[in-house]
Amino acid sequence: MSGKTKNSVELYSRALDVIPGGVNSPVRAFRSVGGDPLFIKSGAGARLTDEDGNSYIDYCMSWGPLILGHADPDVVEAVRNTALLGTSFGAPNRMEVEIAEMVSERVPSIEKVRFVNSGTEAVMSAVRLARGYTGRDRIIKFDGCYHGHADYLLVAAGSGLATLGAPDSAGVTKNNASDTIVLPFNDPQRLEDALKKEQGMVAAIILEPVPCNYGLILPEKGYLEEARRLCDRFEVLLIFDEVITGFRLAPGGAQAYYNVLPDITTLGKIIGGGLPVGAYGAGADIMSRVAPEGAVYQAGTLSGNPLAMAAGIAALRKLDSLKAWQILRERSEKFRSYLEPVISKYEGRLLFTRLESIFTFTFTGKGRISSLEDVKEADMKLFAEFHREMLKRGVYLSPSGFEVGFLSTAHGDDDLAKTASAVEESLREIM
Ligand SMILES: *Cc1c(COP(=O)(O)O)cnc(C)c1O
Repeated sequence: MSGKTKNSVELYSRALDVIPGGVNSPVRAFRSVGGDPLFIKSGAGARLTDEDGNSYIDYCMSWGPLILGHADPDVVEAVRNTALLGTSFGAPNRMEVEIAEMVSERVPSIEKVRFVNSGTEAVMSAVRLARGYTGRDRIIKFDGCYHGHADYLLVAAGSGLATLGAPDSAGVTKNNASDTIVLPFNDPQRLEDALKKEQGMVAAIILEPVPCNYGLILPEKGYLEEARRLCDRFEVLLIFDEVITGFRLAPGGAQAYYNVLPDITTLGKIIGGGLPVGAYGAGADIMSRVAPEGAVYQAGTLSGNPLAMAAGIAALRKLDSLKAWQILRERSEKFRSYLEPVISKYEGRLLFTRLESIFTFTFTGKGRISSLEDVKEADMKLFAEFHREMLKRGVYLSPSGFEVGFLSTAHGDDDLAKTASAVEESLREIM
C-alpha cells in the first residue's frame, strides 16, 4: 500500500509532530488495525477519496452521521446558502425553531429539545438534567455502551462483584467514578438488584438501546421493556442515548423501533447532517428544569449554529422525502443476501450481525453477541488482517473490530456487490 498512499504517509508524519497521535480522535489512528491512517481529501455518495487519489467504498460514514452519503447535494446547498447569510449570531434564529419542531414531531418521547455541539455534550447535559430533576447523584451505565468522554462516563466495571465504577481513563478522578455504577447489558436481574440496593440514590440509568460502540450488541427480547418497568418501579429516570440509533433505525429512533419510551433522549450524529450537532430532549415537565426556565445550567456559544441547523433540517427532510428507512432496509437486506453465501463458508469462525443499516463482522465462534464479554472474546488480530485486505480492495471499514459499519442511501447495488466480492477474496486470503 505504501507507494499508493505516499501523501497520506507524509501528512501523518507531519501530523505526529503537532497533533497527539496525529489525530483528533483516537480510533482514527488505525492503532487497532495497524498501518497508517488515510488522509481523506473528499467524499461523494458512498465513496471516499484519499490524498493520493485512491477511491474507497466507505462504510465508516464518519461514524454514523452520513446516512445520506458524503456531500449530499441538498445538504451541501443548504449549508452554502446559509453561510452566505452569516455563520453565527449568538441570538435565536428561525432554523432552531424549525428543527426543534421536526425533532419533537418525530421522536415519540420528546416534547422539547435543546441543541448542543456534540453527542458528548448532549449526554453530559442529559445526566445533569436527570440529577437536577431528581435531586440524586448516582447514575447507572452499562458495560459495552459508550456515551462520549465526560469524566463520570469514562468509567469501567469495578472488579469482581463490586458495582461501583473505576476510572477508565487517566485524569478521571475516583470521585468522578464513584457516582457511576456499571452493570452488564442484557441482565435485568443485576439491574433490579442494583436499583434495590441503591434505592433513593440513583438519578438515572443511561444506555444505548442498541449498543453500537463495542461491536453491535442486540438487546435481548424484553430487556428494554424491563429496564423501563424497573425505572418506573424505583422512580429512576431512563435515558436513551440515541446518538447513533436516532433517525437511523426509524424516524423516531430506537424508542419508536422497539416501542419503549425513555424519559430523556440524547441525539447526535445524523441530526447534524454531517456538521457538529448534538441534542437532548424530553417531556415538557423535565425540560422545564433547564435554564433559563429552570435551575439546571447549560449553555453554548455556537449551540443552534445556523450552518449546523440548516444541514440537520436538510438531512431530516430528505430522509422523509426519500422514505430512506425503506430504502435502507431493502439495501441492507440485499447486502446480507450477497454476503450470506460467502460468510456461510466460515460458519463457526465469523459472525455477521446486522440491524437495519448497522452491521459488523466479528471473528468469533459465537452464534450471537449479547454482551461485552462476547465481543472481547472475538479475534481482533484477524479483524485487523481483514481490514487491511478490504482496504487493498477499495473498501474502507471502520478501523477497529469494536466499531460498526453503516450503510447509507448512497450505497448502490454495484457498491454492495463489489463489497461482497472483496469480502470473499479477503476472507480467502486470511482464513
Ligand atoms: C458517538 C457517540 C457519542 C459521542 O458523540 P460525540 O459527538 O462523538 O461527542 C455518545 N453516545 C453514543 C451512543 C455515540 O455513538
